[in-house]
Amino acid sequence: MADNSAIEWTDATWNPVTGCTKITRGCDNCYAARFAERWRGVPGHPYEQGFDLHLWPARLDQPERWRKRRMIFVNSMSDLFHKDVPREFIDKVFDRMETVNRHTYQVLTKRSSLMRDYLKRRYGEGMAPKHIWCGVSVEDSAAAGRIRHLQDAPAAVRFLSAEPLLGPVGEIDLEGISWVIAGGESGPGARPMHLEWVRALRDRCALEGVPFFFKQWGGARPKAGGRLLDGKEWNGFPGTLRRSSSRVPYRPRKGTVNVSAACAVSTNYWNSWDFMAHCKTSWDMKGRFAMENGSKNARDPAAAHQPSKAEFEMDVSVCATPEAQAWAVTGGGTERRKLEDEELRLDNM
Ligand code: SF4
Repeated sequence: MADNSAIEWTDATWNPVTGCTKITRGCDNCYAARFAERWRGVPGHPYEQGFDLHLWPARLDQPERWRKRRMIFVNSMSDLFHKDVPREFIDKVFDRMETVNRHTYQVLTKRSSLMRDYLKRRYGEGMAPKHIWCGVSVEDSAAAGRIRHLQDAPAAVRFLSAEPLLGPVGEIDLEGISWVIAGGESGPGARPMHLEWVRALRDRCALEGVPFFFKQWGGARPKAGGRLLDGKEWNGFPGTLRRSSSRVPYRPRKGTVNVSAACAVSTNYWNSWDFMAHCKTSWDMKGRFAMENGSKNARDPAAAHQPSKAEFEMDVSVCATPEAQAWAVTGGGTERRKLEDEELRLDNM
């Protein structure tokens, strides 16, 4: 477990399970295995047993001890749905995540069918709550079947991690997917990621209104190639509002958006790709507003400033989704209520 994780899309890691076994070519250069095996046989080291599967019941209360809200990557050093993790232990992890609900948990697996089956058993007609994000890794088109398992899994927020991206993922359907991460492999023997693979994924996300996060190009070290894609960072995160699974067709509407009010209502949503993807004037403004709102995506303190009224206004027709449009049309109190209604609806699902 580690606070202040170096992984760009999370704040902290929590590993109630460590160790795993390789099941797919996406695992070939598993960083967790490489790290853990370095310590095999070192007495008293947490990875004394190398990358062998190990349960850590004493770590279950870690989220409780973190008083401040965090985004927590669950089992960065394992796979919670490994076949040898007892169901009762997975239950304890989920019990803890449900109870300590001030955090957002990111559960990522390659055992997609096992996660789907577990969630179905646990939630029945309901679904995993929206602070427990459920995701699958997809390294190429051969792994795309995991997306279908995920879409069939009852979870309020579903995400894909295309890292390491080892080939084109093909014409994937993003219905019901709230977030996509992509990145290249890093470490010794890192396999290259081609520009057209990641561009295709990003463009698919833009088309479907799904937030896109580009983590890194990879190489010998994680940061060797930087994280610019076509000259800029892609820092999309799921918005406060989940996309409806019954998709409403996108119809552009005309008007202006009061960005000031919108920004005050929800920094998360302001930062979301849904809202920002197609805003003609927005990229530099996003940095400024995010800074003022304490977002982790704002990296340049010098960019903070008080925008003028003119800067608050932009064409609503450029908002990517019906939800973004509905929310942005007037800004302020009415829209805040809409947002709260929607959150209530999600809570009651
Ligand atoms: S599933 Fe994940 S943790 Fe397990 S071996 Fe593969 S890459 Fe490593």
